[in-house]
Amino acid sequence: MSLAQFYIYSPLDFQKYVMNSHFSRQITVIQNHHTWSPGYRDVTPNNGEMYWLEAMRNFHIKDRGWSDIGQNITTFPSGNIGLCRPIDITPAGIFGANHGAICIENLGNFDTRGDYMTPSHRASIVFLNALFCIKFSLELNKEQIVYHHWFNRTGKRFSDDKINNNQVGDEQKTCPGTAFFGTNTITSAEANFYPLIQNKITELKGQVQPSTLIKKVKADVLNVRGGPGLNFPVLHTLTNGTEVTIYTVFNGWSKISSTADEWVFSTLLS
Ligand SMILES: [Zn+2]
Repeated sequence: MSLAQFYIYSPLDFQKYVMNSHFSRQITVIQNHHTWSPGYRDVTPNNGEMYWLEAMRNFHIKDRGWSDIGQNITTFPSGNIGLCRPIDITPAGIFGANHGAICIENLGNFDTRGDYMTPSHRASIVFLNALFCIKFSLELNKEQIVYHHWFNRTGKRFSDDKINNNQVGDEQKTCPGTAFFGTNTITSAEANFYPLIQNKITELKGQVQPSTLIKKVKADVLNVRGGPGLNFPVLHTLTNGTEVTIYTVFNGWSKISSTADEWVFSTLLS
């Protein structure tokens, strides 16, 4: 397969790109990372943003043995947004936890005493998380907006206590950094990062429409229930081959109405 075509966008142009694109992959989680190296001082007039995308790709292919650059997105100190591995392709971001993920690599070292994040960069990172929350109907919580640091090296999550009490130690990198919007704990994300994303979501709502997926019923009779679980009442049924539009996915259930609570069991769709 050919390698990804890189594009570097301003936030506004990236918004237009996302709004005008249809993605076929079901996205359920946004990963936030920092590159640590390269850091801010490495981005120079001679070795600019495109240079670093190519350099990271070379590193990922030659040193990591991956098929292409690992991340879907790279953000830069300028606030620019680099589209890397296509959004419809699963990233290599958090080993064992990449299914359904978009991987955002924020260029810089956001550990304490590392790079001081520029205001444009901050705004861009918040904007991207908000944009993807709307586009992919994600909830702003610790399951769907995540930090690399919260997963062990097999992709299993550490307990909230372990993360919040800074007991991860050498079991995982500090990524996206011990000074990333406060620090890299869940408590900090909830107190410092998510509220900024929430404000941006409020601002962007109306400008960005959620992405939907069209699927077909692959059961003779499919129950449509009033919620995402077998305990919810059956409202009506659908027959084999009926096309449905999916707005949200939760715990193996798909919501097939933008307004009403109408849910079907996801594995009975194709
Ligand atoms: Zn990372």
